[in-house]
Amino acid sequence: MIGTPYRGRLAPSPTGLLHLGHARTFLIAAERAGGGTLILRNDDLDTQRSRPEFAQAMLEDLAWLGIRWTEGPQPDGTEPGNFGPYAQSLRGSLYTAAFQQLSEAGFLYPCICSRKDLLSAPHAPHAEDEDEPLYPGTCRERNPESDEPSAWRFRVTDGEEVSFYDALLGPQTFIAGRDFGDFVVMRRDGVPSYQLACVADDAVMQITEVVRGRDLLRSTARQILLLRALGHSIPAYAHVELMRNERGERLAKRDAARSLRYLRESGLTPQEVRKMAIEEIE
Ligand code: GLU
Repeated sequence: MIGTPYRGRLAPSPTGLLHLGHARTFLIAAERAGGGTLILRNDDLDTQRSRPEFAQAMLEDLAWLGIRWTEGPQPDGTEPGNFGPYAQSLRGSLYTAAFQQLSEAGFLYPCICSRKDLLSAPHAPHAEDEDEPLYPGTCRERNPESDEPSAWRFRVTDGEEVSFYDALLGPQTFIAGRDFGDFVVMRRDGVPSYQLACVADDAVMQITEVVRGRDLLRSTARQILLLRALGHSIPAYAHVELMRNERGERLAKRDAARSLRYLRESGLTPQEVRKMAIEEIE
């Protein structure tokens, strides 16, 4: 996409307070955006876990850190930009349209496997062990009975290589059917999956580069398949190294002492927190 003006996005989910790991990813996203456009999207698709107070906190904490975005919700309640609403909970019709397009083109099949369905949360799978388990294909060839409540899966081609160049990690290749299987795009309760919503939004918002945590590499492979199936162009990708605690575990929203809010309230300056977020990168 050489010559296309840069459009990047920050896509936090308001399911807790942002921590140093988010700060790292978003500082790098802001830096990569340079003089281009940076969008803030409120990924509140998971209505069970999202809270308006966390949505407000994420805007305030990112602004406090010194990150500026010109599209999407601002801490003062305004929402500049031509691609709104910028909250996923308000963009359902876009996801339904993407779902219908995939369905009509024959990419999807209904799946009644309830245990797997339970594991297919609408939030992004953030660690390998949180990722959807490899689907064994139970419902692939099943003859669906009408009106049966079902989730909908995207059928991957087993053995297909999905490759992309990562601006920070170099060339990446994942194999469909081995690194990820047929994945849910619409849950049984009608909630679109993270993969579907993310792809529909990134395409419509004309995102040219996706910057996010390294834990989402395999999601990127799935999303490339969805983007191709929907006929959208593939953005550039940059996956940021994860921040770990002293036990070597990936930071999670439950690590309260690493939350930007806590650090801010304990008197650290934005500059000090920026240093903490960036410095530990090996
Ligand atoms: N809301 C998702 C998350 O918090 C976004 C991931 C992405 O950047 O695609 O993980």
